[in-house]
Amino acid sequence: SSGDRALNRMNLTQFELPTSNLTTGRANATLISLVRNEELGGIIRSMRQLEMSWNNKYNYPWIFFNDVPFTEEFKKRTQAETKAQCHYALIPKEHWEIPEWIDDDQLKQGIAEQKKKGIKYASSISYHQMCRWNSGFFYKHPILDNYKYYWRVEPDIKYFCDIDYDLFQFMADHNKVYGFTINIFDDPFSVKSLWPTSMAFLKSHPDYLSTDNSMTWLTDDTLRPDKTLSANGYSTCHFWSNFEIADLDFWRGEKYQKYFDHLDQSGGFFYERWGDAPVHSVALGLFADNSQIHWFRDIGYEHPPYSNCPDLPNCQNCKPNVFASGRVLKEDCRVTWFKQVCESRTQHGGMSPE
Ligand code: GDP
Ligand code: MN
Repeated sequence: SSGDRALNRMNLTQFELPTSNLTTGRANATLISLVRNEELGGIIRSMRQLEMSWNNKYNYPWIFFNDVPFTEEFKKRTQAETKAQCHYALIPKEHWEIPEWIDDDQLKQGIAEQKKKGIKYASSISYHQMCRWNSGFFYKHPILDNYKYYWRVEPDIKYFCDIDYDLFQFMADHNKVYGFTINIFDDPFSVKSLWPTSMAFLKSHPDYLSTDNSMTWLTDDTLRPDKTLSANGYSTCHFWSNFEIADLDFWRGEKYQKYFDHLDQSGGFFYERWGDAPVHSVALGLFADNSQIHWFRDIGYEHPPYSNCPDLPNCQNCKPNVFASGRVLKEDCRVTWFKQVCESRTQHGGMSPE
């Protein structure tokens, strides 16, 4: 595809690789995972991947979240996968339940429309709740109060490369707020009103917009595959949030807090099927500095059907530079991201000092 050719032309060395520093493991950070009891096998597979490639050297704790209590078996078998401490957190009802301002009829009608448009998970109410929780509630759980950074993990993901530096320490040393591996286009219909709702918010808080924002990436849809549907001004580019390493203080801050409340009041998590990935991404693109968002090009990662496979000697079991196969290959949004990074570095002082 044209996106691939553009990608190959990109000089990846612009995205510096950190040097190894095996000695830390003491950042104020934790691995987190929202998971169901039934996904025990999948989360164990993920833990093995991440423990083997990284965490067995650093021993950051794991925190598992669930809207129902974890079983004893879940606790015993996950703790058996790591030398680090595992914690199990129950999500408070008021963080998970459908808020009272959601109208039943509008919900039914919204879901019927999403189904008609073939939106994945449209009729799963718990999926909507999960996206809302990941958008505006995970960081409010008291168990995270004393942490600054987290790394999100889902069941059945893969890590392909041995990682010999402390990614959390890297975030702290370079003043990063967000790190991602994969960045893709979304189904425009699932986020139909996300952009107009966000722009209405920005209009009432114009000073919240970062001078080093990522507006090009958020709005340039020239490479978006399905142009027959409109996302009302949003490119639909988003960091794929099943992997994220981020600074909790960004979500805890006034800007994101107010932004989330504004989105939540509009009902879009239920009447549409806003994912936490586009919500996080729009917020980061508007309020964070582009220089504080980091592409971990050296982390080999897969959550089917997409992957990030670096062409590096410490990576195994993935094909270098292969992102996906078949139709979904077109959904890669990296080229738009590169364009944004180049623009941002030109306007805001060249290469970021990584
Ligand atoms: P996908 O990656 O978008 O296909 O969605 P997943 O089914 O992987 O869900 C995203 C994450 O949320 C995974 O870590 C799931 O284990 C978790 N998850 C989704 N729904 C629920 C739920 O109702 N309860 C709990 N506890 N976890 C959930
Ligand atoms: Mn998943």
